[in-house]
Amino acid sequence: MPNPIKVLHISAECYPAAKTGGLADVVGALPKYQQSQDVQSAVVIPKYDLPWINKQIWEEVYSGGVWMGYYDQKFKVFTTDQALLGFPLYVIEILGKFDRPGIYADPHGNHYGDEAERFITFQKAVLRWLQNSTSVRPDILHCHDHHTGLIPFMVKHTPEFQNLGYIPTVFTIHNGRYHGSFGWNARYLLPHFDDYLGGLLEWKGVINPLAAAIKTCWRLTTVSRAYLEELRTDSNGLEPLLQQEGFKSSGILNGIDTKVWDPETDPALQVNLKKSIPHFKRENKNRLLETFNLEKGLPLLTFIGRFALEKGADVLPDLVYRTFSQNYPINILILGSGDPPIQHTLNGMVQQYSGRFNTYIGYNEDLAHQIYAGADFLLMPSRVEPCGLNQMYALRYGTIPIVRRTGGLLDSVVDYGDPGGSGIMFNHVWTNDILHSLSRAIELYADKKLFDKIVSNNMKLDFSWDRSAQEYQKIYQEIAK
Ligand code: ADP
Repeated sequence: MPNPIKVLHISAECYPAAKTGGLADVVGALPKYQQSQDVQSAVVIPKYDLPWINKQIWEEVYSGGVWMGYYDQKFKVFTTDQALLGFPLYVIEILGKFDRPGIYADPHGNHYGDEAERFITFQKAVLRWLQNSTSVRPDILHCHDHHTGLIPFMVKHTPEFQNLGYIPTVFTIHNGRYHGSFGWNARYLLPHFDDYLGGLLEWKGVINPLAAAIKTCWRLTTVSRAYLEELRTDSNGLEPLLQQEGFKSSGILNGIDTKVWDPETDPALQVNLKKSIPHFKRENKNRLLETFNLEKGLPLLTFIGRFALEKGADVLPDLVYRTFSQNYPINILILGSGDPPIQHTLNGMVQQYSGRFNTYIGYNEDLAHQIYAGADFLLMPSRVEPCGLNQMYALRYGTIPIVRRTGGLLDSVVDYGDPGGSGIMFNHVWTNDILHSLSRAIELYADKKLFDKIVSNNMKLDFSWDRSAQEYQKIYQEIAK
């Protein structure tokens, strides 16, 4: 039997240790599904000052240092019981840089100003540890998003880490809007490289880790096929690069962790799926209506996510206003955080539309699960959606997605007017377009037989990681030595 391919996922986030969004969900789930005879995966992330990380018992496996231009940065690598997550998780403690109570920003949402230096240190620490580790010797380095985008360059082109240059690199773009760019004046933080190689790091006059990864990785993936297509025409300035590197690129739709997201066993739910789907949905919905003081007998529409332009969250206040001023028979419950003016406006509307509208401003994992289980419709008016996980969680928990036709939403939802329909789709991030979808949702809700049929079909759809894990495995096999 051939030896399994050993993969090390290098990331800024991994659920449940550190999460702000979908990147964490992917890095926390994919490795679990990759533990097979053919692939064995481990994950390394920074050691943040976050509750889950602080709760674990860590065992030190390495201690070392990296030179940061004018100071020696000490770091330590720890691991914990593999049985905990289903794969080995390593965390790198870098005091002064990651022992903070947030991943990219403090708990008030203020971004740390030293992102470039923090993540360069992390990437160098990962490579120093790999150079010296006798137990962790990956066949593939799988890097995720710009925070780890300099690694393919460092192993290939810097003398300091070139003895790792034989290891093939895969780079996955989860979110192509963020590039992690910084000026050439910070070059001293990077390991030495010959000047003529600078072009591999540069895009539009600055060092651009996302561009560097696209140029220098062995294989490039994005988290849906439709998103890969979109990036070629709209990627914040990287379009020609993505067109040029198309030969090594593929789109692989994320899966969801069906062990965590299981309506039958999910511990976050007050009522699990035991008797029947209508009973499961009704009971969970009733609890939400009670908790959030919403009217009985009406469909419940929800939005869960970051209040960001890319999520289309800026239309929410207008949508709430128009929905209730035009008297649409529906309740709306919003869970999210982000852009302060959006938070403020939505909060201000709660009293005005009390009984029909409510919000929870903040991040609440358990509540998100409860809402997926209790809502009737989930709205995703995203401008950009590389893959999107919410629509898959919604489908699995019997909530019908109402989504804009974009990115991964196109690859995972079918309008109910079409064969195999699972949701409602619209084209533009405009209140009018969304209101039209709300009318369709209300109509569908009134047709109980059809509504129940779509919900029960949706809950059987397969979005598990097995299919995506196989596609990644194929890529690993093609490049592993
Ligand atoms: P993103 O672009 O934010 O990564 P995804 O759809 O890929 O979007 O993933 C979003 C994930 O974050 C989902 O698991 C969603 O349920 C979760 N999420 C987003 N905002 C919140 C919140 N305020 N509370 C709880 N979970 C949230």
